[in-house]
Amino acid sequence: MSSPILPGATLGVLGSGQLGRMFALSARSLGYRVRMFSPDTDTPTGQVADGEVVAAYEDLDAVRAFAQSVNVITFEFENVPAETAAAAAEIVPVRPGGAALHIAQNRKREKEFLADHGFPCAPFRSVASLGELQIALPGIGVPAILKTAGFGYDGKGQVRLRDVSEAADAWNALGGSECVLEGFVDFEREVSVVAARGLGDEFAHYGVIENAHKDGILDLSVCPSPAVSAKTAAEAVDITRAICEALGLVGVFCVEFFLTADGSLIVNEMAPRPHNSGHLTIEAYAASQFEQQVRAVCGLPLGSTDLLRPAAMANLLGDLWETGTPNWAAALALPNVALHLYGKAQARPGRKMGHLTALAETPEAASELVRAARAALGKKL
Ligand code: AMP
Repeated sequence: MSSPILPGATLGVLGSGQLGRMFALSARSLGYRVRMFSPDTDTPTGQVADGEVVAAYEDLDAVRAFAQSVNVITFEFENVPAETAAAAAEIVPVRPGGAALHIAQNRKREKEFLADHGFPCAPFRSVASLGELQIALPGIGVPAILKTAGFGYDGKGQVRLRDVSEAADAWNALGGSECVLEGFVDFEREVSVVAARGLGDEFAHYGVIENAHKDGILDLSVCPSPAVSAKTAAEAVDITRAICEALGLVGVFCVEFFLTADGSLIVNEMAPRPHNSGHLTIEAYAASQFEQQVRAVCGLPLGSTDLLRPAAMANLLGDLWETGTPNWAAALALPNVALHLYGKAQARPGRKMGHLTALAETPEAASELVRAARAALGKKL
């Protein structure tokens, strides 16, 4: 195993959103320098990094020059082109590696990987034309969900089909690009497992986090999940670990599951990076998912995932700004509530601007407190 990359070294991040920002803050507190690479300026990550390179991901000369200036590269969103990761990997370690990125950035490859390895997922067919969709629909049945194979996130790039007669409308709505047709899962709840795998195969996880979505976007996360049995939680962790190992992943990894009424777990999605549902680990656990990412990609021992206190996280979307500046003081007046804002200048509906995390004696109390804190943001200033 290669020797660890120690504090004082420079970590490179591809991407410039809030995940990179929280990664950079964690890396800097551990004594690392951080440089980020993205096509955008004045970004959540760039604002807190030691240096930023503004260039297109397709500019492979710029990618190689960036790679020369850092000791290891990670990424904060998985839609970095495979060629970018490959060009960087000619010069420095890229963790997680391009293979995991390649699988996770495309739903077709992701589903095929899961099915080929025997991991539980919804029935699916990949469809490349309206004709193929019409042939696949009777086999999958309705309701079904049609999802674009590439570049989907937060429920974007997907359409629900309630009847086979809706095939043409659904196909046209997604722009006729390659898609995956998925059976509809009648789930009782959505949960995730955020975990980390180190260079030497060590594994750490944060148990089962329960998530509620609104309009396809994560709204609220609670840990530990109050409704999931110890047996189901252990099974979710086992599946997560097995997927990490099958991918040979180094870094933080998240698996999102559907949990059905009969207790079955079905993998919905996976992300080869820190995840929105893991933001509550910053306050709730000894080592956060971002510290864990730093440790894993640097080849250091993973941190402790001891739960300090039950917690709940509420996302703050741009919609909150519609009636003016949120009342920060009212939310911060509540004890055990932490505010994280991502430094985004423009608040647009559906845009993730920040989040709140509340700690309490029980997950239920934390959930109530974080909702109260978010509601307080709407109070007149
Ligand atoms: P995704 O972007 O694939 O995570 O989908 C966003 C949300 O849509 C999920 O969190 C679910 O609430 C819902 N969803 C996605 N796929 C399915 C499915 N096969 N069955 C039922 N609901 C789904």
